[in-house]
Amino acid sequence: RAKTDGRGIFRVYSPEMGSKIRRYHYLLEEIRLAIASQNFTLSFQPIVNVDDCSIDYFESLVRWNHPVEGPISPAEFIPIAEDSNLIIELGNWILFEACRQMSAWHNAGMNKVRMSVNISGVQLKYLPIYDWVMDTLTKTGLPPSALLLEITESCLFHASEKIIQDLENLRKEGVLIAIDDFGTGFSSLSTLANLPVDVIKIDKLFIDQATINPKYEKILNSISGLGKTLNLKVVAEGVEVASQFELIKNLGIHCVQGYLISRPESSYDVGNKVIKNNLNHIALTGTGVCSP
Ligand code: C2E
Ligand code: MG
Ligand code: MG
Ligand code: MG
Repeated sequence: RAKTDGRGIFRVYSPEMGSKIRRYHYLLEEIRLAIASQNFTLSFQPIVNVDDCSIDYFESLVRWNHPVEGPISPAEFIPIAEDSNLIIELGNWILFEACRQMSAWHNAGMNKVRMSVNISGVQLKYLPIYDWVMDTLTKTGLPPSALLLEITESCLFHASEKIIQDLENLRKEGVLIAIDDFGTGFSSLSTLANLPVDVIKIDKLFIDQATINPKYEKILNSISGLGKTLNLKVVAEGVEVASQFELIKNLGIHCVQGYLISRPESSYDVGNKVIKNNLNHIALTGTGVCSP
């Protein structure tokens, strides 16, 4: 079966043909086209303090609404963009756009909130990360103290000396570094103590298990303690129900992110000053860690 994708380009592909490899190559070419035709967008999800639900920061998450396939998850296309190094070009747009948006929100009055951007290991490997980030901040007018970079535990763990040094230098400028999907990588306590990190984001897997399995509750408790020991801010990812929120609050974890608070949204009416959510109204002015 042949399909037209609405841009006059004719492709021979059908999901029924089916192998993973075929879809992989199909998506690879589609990512290339989507970059060229600027078909990606960003959504933003608030991370809030457990005490008062004030916003600590927003995480920017890339979205792709494919003209034929509909929405495709970043969990599917980011790995393909990484394999092909297309993440360099896509990630360049993502960082610029996230900084541009936060710069606009700062100007509209939400001036204490940071923006966080996911950075892939491929970007760390091939980009002069310090120069690239500082250059983007200059171009978008966002202060370094309003940016947070999320890097997965396994990427940080495998980072070279040069990369670690660049990240240290960014921290000196005021940029914060978060270790993403914490608990799924291989850091030992001693590596963690030596990594250039300000924030620990505990993977959703642990949050899902914690209210069911007491062992996971103990793990969360020890990660919370680790955060205190190393003076790191601790965030729980993927909080969906109130019982998880209560547990996290009781364990002394500082911040939460999840559907219970808010799903990622494509835009916010910053002039409106509040976001409605299941727990509270979140003040859009923010009282977050961003104090320049
Ligand atoms: P991540 O960085 O760990 O992002 C958190 C993911 O959890 C997001 O999925 C978010 O929508 C989802 N999430 C947040 N709260 C909840 C919840 O309560 N329940 C559930 N079920 N999910 C929740 P998303 O947007 O699909 O992104 C998946 C992954 O794709 C991200 O995981 C990240 O690794 C990658 N990704 C997304 N955007 C970017 C990007 O701009 N650049 C790069 N390099 N990777 C990205
Ligand atoms: Mg992330
Ligand atoms: Mg994560
Ligand atoms: Mg994740």
